[in-house]
Amino acid sequence: MAFDPATLPDACDIAVVGSGSGGAAVTRRLVEAGWEVTLIEAGGDGRPAEVVADPTQWIRIAGTEWDWGHAYAPRPQVDDRAIPIPRGRILGGSGQINAMMWYRGHPADYDAWAEMGCDGWRFEDCLPAFRRCEDWPAGGALRGQGGPLRVAPPADPHPLALALVEAAWQAGMPVLDDPNGPSNEGAALANLNIRAGRRFGPAEGYLAPVLEAPNLTVALATRALAILWRGDRAAGLRLARRGGTVELTARRGVVLAAGAFETPRLLMLSGAGPEAALSRLGLPARLALPELGENLADHPLVRGCVFRARRTMPPPRDNGGGAILNWRSDPALPRPDLHAFAVPGRSATAEVTADHALPDAGVFSIVPGLMGSRSTGRMALTSADPAAPLHLDPGFLTDPADRTALLAGIEQALDLAARPALAAWTDGALAPGPDRERFLRCACSTFYHPCGTARMGRDPGAVTTPRLRVAGAEALWIADASVIPRIPSCNTHAPVTMIGERAAEFILEDA
Ligand SMILES: Cc1cc2nc3c(=O)[nH]c(=O)nc-3n(C[C@H](O)[C@H](O)[C@H](O)COP(=O)(O)OP(=O)(O)OC[C@H]3O[C@@H](n4cnc5c(N)ncnc54)[C@H](O)[C@@H]3O)c2cc1C
Repeated sequence: MAFDPATLPDACDIAVVGSGSGGAAVTRRLVEAGWEVTLIEAGGDGRPAEVVADPTQWIRIAGTEWDWGHAYAPRPQVDDRAIPIPRGRILGGSGQINAMMWYRGHPADYDAWAEMGCDGWRFEDCLPAFRRCEDWPAGGALRGQGGPLRVAPPADPHPLALALVEAAWQAGMPVLDDPNGPSNEGAALANLNIRAGRRFGPAEGYLAPVLEAPNLTVALATRALAILWRGDRAAGLRLARRGGTVELTARRGVVLAAGAFETPRLLMLSGAGPEAALSRLGLPARLALPELGENLADHPLVRGCVFRARRTMPPPRDNGGGAILNWRSDPALPRPDLHAFAVPGRSATAEVTADHALPDAGVFSIVPGLMGSRSTGRMALTSADPAAPLHLDPGFLTDPADRTALLAGIEQALDLAARPALAAWTDGALAPGPDRERFLRCACSTFYHPCGTARMGRDPGAVTTPRLRVAGAEALWIADASVIPRIPSCNTHAPVTMIGERAAEFILEDA
């Protein structure tokens, strides 16, 4: 009906909270099905901002008005550092401030979800939804064409990206035509959500084509404060908007797509969650969800292995990277668990920069991450005030296997840099030094993939059913990274977009 009107309608068929990777997809499909949708987004429209649109600048968005500004709690495993964890507060959500990598991981990631009790989530069940998301130039049985999101390899890859792929080949790794093809093991040019040199995120791909649709209302700078219940049924939302509070009736229900931190917060503020924790904060306990907030997972990223450049480094292109590697930390593993990319410039935490006296220029970095991480932690409220900081802890490096794998990843990054294709670019590593354990503790950062805090399943601890309806509630669904039961071995934008597509299917069938 309108894009950010002065006055919101009192009622709609369905209210969607959050316009990010999951929310944009579910909104688009419900609008196309003819439902009257109101999309509630706490952030503004960032599309005109150059820092959002220029793919090389994404790292600068953290800490701006487009970021919620969360941080992971200090833990000894990461040298007692608080680790900032940006989340998009913007039309398009984290998908609009992300690094634009489009990556689906390994089929076994989704088969594992099904084995955990999430019926209907094997890779073969998810593939049609993945294909629906995509507009991949080459098409093919595993890829989609004509979907909302442009996905393409770099048009003119950075020479460092090409050198990384060649060095991987020199180290004996396969070189892949497509990391979203039949195998994901090896080196490849990336798949990126970039079109004509500009970001092509959820706002451009999923939302822009329907923003003028007569059955969609988008409310920007509007925060959902609580679910309005009628018995067990989600009947609407209380919203903070333009300095006041308004109520919205949702005749067919509510979809929560506020992300892995804000969806559980909104549920808890609405009286759903672990009963003892709610009553400690003086919140009504009306729906018991004992494990809401548990199982917070993220991929640790080592920032980073930094090398002195012996050639003038051309400025960044694409998303600053352009090539990826997936390989095994241990050849006995059944599939890749490590991932890495190379970027011109310094990608290092403040502590690594200080420890190694790293210069501001004349360097490049290889950044290993653990996509097969096993550590998990939790999120919790610290107060009933919606503006209070959250307690967020993904448990980085608490599972010793994660430390072992990342230490192997660091050695492999150093080995790659010594292969002829990369050795031509450097005369040596500035970081790490000899103390690898301290380096890992100080370099451990986030790959920006928090998920799992409202996991789906069939067991009593599951927060949603495998059809994404909140257990014990009617007309209430979750369509974001919270529902992921086990973190997949890839960046999470593609899996969450796929979840948004599937949520729309389930809602249209079940509502
Ligand atoms: C810096 C960064 C880089 C990343 N790089 C990549 C990458 O290259 N590739 C990749 O695959 N993944 C990447 N990711 C991760 C990926 O983008 C996220 O996993 C994904 O976008 C999460 O989608 P979501 O729908 O769960 O939540 P989000 O996309 O975060 O959407 C949640 C939305 O809900 C809104 N919201 C929250 N609370 C409320 C409320 N109470 N009321 C109204 N609105 C609310 C938020 O403002 C936000 O717009 C990156 C993430 C970040 C932050």
